[in-house]
Amino acid sequence: MSDIKSRDKEFVADTYARFDVAITSGMGSELFDETGKRYIDMGSGIGVTSFGTADVEWVKAVSEQLMRVQHTSNLYYTAPCGRLAELLCEKTGMKKVFFGNSGAEANECAIKVARKYAADKKGSDYSTIVTLENSFHGRTLTTLAATGQAHYHELFQPLTPGFVHTPANDIDAMRETVKNNKVAAILIECIQGEGGVNVLDKEFVQKTAELAKENDVLLMVDEVQTGNGRTGEMYAYMNYGISPDVVTTAKGLGGGLPIGACLMSEKVGNVLGHGDHGSTFGGNPVACAGAVSIIERIDDALLADVKKKSEYVFEALSGAAGIEKVVGMGLMIGIKTVRAASDIVKECNEKGVLCLTAKDKVRLLPALNIPMDVLKEALEVIKEVAAKEI
Ligand SMILES: *Cc1c(COP(=O)(O)O)cnc(C)c1O
Repeated sequence: MSDIKSRDKEFVADTYARFDVAITSGMGSELFDETGKRYIDMGSGIGVTSFGTADVEWVKAVSEQLMRVQHTSNLYYTAPCGRLAELLCEKTGMKKVFFGNSGAEANECAIKVARKYAADKKGSDYSTIVTLENSFHGRTLTTLAATGQAHYHELFQPLTPGFVHTPANDIDAMRETVKNNKVAAILIECIQGEGGVNVLDKEFVQKTAELAKENDVLLMVDEVQTGNGRTGEMYAYMNYGISPDVVTTAKGLGGGLPIGACLMSEKVGNVLGHGDHGSTFGGNPVACAGAVSIIERIDDALLADVKKKSEYVFEALSGAAGIEKVVGMGLMIGIKTVRAASDIVKECNEKGVLCLTAKDKVRLLPALNIPMDVLKEALEVIKEVAAKEI
């Protein structure tokens, strides 16, 4: 075993079942390990490196900011934080942004907004947050409580109270849940990422939005994975014709540095006041400068290109040998294979294509700007591996 791997195994907490690969460098959608072996990156660090590894414009934005000032604390103004918030508001119609450092923190902020809004308006007993079964909202004790998957909960009781889960795509159950609880907000992923790339039904999402409005319950959309161009729209909710009250995002926003954002609409933009929330690293100028260089480039042309590549992937894989179905939106794609997804991913790794799993599916989250020829090459390998007899 190489030094990189053996040292990691000895000293890093054993919370990840890592693949037998140590990445040492990369460029765009290609990565290299310590032996010089080349990989095509079909996971982009779980949808983080939106424009690939060591993207020239992103590196320039980050390094220029690094040489000016790397951190100030939130006691002072810095330019990138305000510029990023302005860009996000322009692209969504939202009015205020709170910055944290991860998806979980973005959701923590949303939950605090919902509880304070409801407490101010209806009373502090209106604290329940409704989320969906099979959802994923993060690893903190509160966002685990939000996550609708019991197996994540078992070892860490007691979790933060005040979360109830209801099945996806069942509007009657959603209606009952809202009726039977003192609800502050409904929090959903339009496409459940970790849950298996499950695209929610349009009708369910729209009816849920109406229900939220009728009951003065906030509609909050977790766009940590689906956001920032991933689905072929700036945010996945834009595919559904809804106007959420709160949008959370992270992963692809930063292009590779830790950042999370909670976007608030007019209705809730001023719910949080001085001292109600904070983060030492939140709005860090280097992370924000990188994110500005990402968000500025997610324009109509890029989104059209994401859609075009998505169609290409669906066409290439649908009906191929060993592939039962292809689901997803944009460049967030789930592949149900005849053989176990984990075996497919392992064999693709060996053949130099890095893919992810999501429950029983192979999951693809390539960089938004993956070149067509590289994408084509990766799909050939995935098809070849999927077609292998059991
Ligand atoms: C990854 C993810 C999170 C958690 O993000 P972290 O940055 O790991 O805290 C939350 N929600 C969704 C939908 C995610 O995909």
